[in-house]
Amino acid sequence: KTANIVLNVSFGIVEGIAVDTHVNRIAHRLALSPKTHEKEPLKTEQDLLKLLPREYWRDVNHQWIRFGREVCSAKAPRCAECPMADICPSVGKC
Ligand code: SF4
Repeated sequence: KTANIVLNVSFGIVEGIAVDTHVNRIAHRLALSPKTHEKEPLKTEQDLLKLLPREYWRDVNHQWIRFGREVCSAKAPRCAECPMADICPSVGKC
């Protein structure tokens, strides 16, 4: 995770997605990675790399961290205001 962030932020090199707590939570709430990978960020990263086009990898961390803080928070997700609510399998269940 740290290596991905350093490469991305310091050198503009994008070789993966840093799966922190926000990215991991959002990936699993949206069922973009199977539940069996919930405690394995490296496997979650591989799932996301297969799903998301490479041109989006750079922005996932910044955008998903903000989304995780402002909308899809760990303790009180704001599903009623979430733009993903109509496609999210976890809407109203967290
Ligand atoms: S609908 Fe709720 S659980 Fe799903 S992504 Fe939005 S805030 Fe998160």
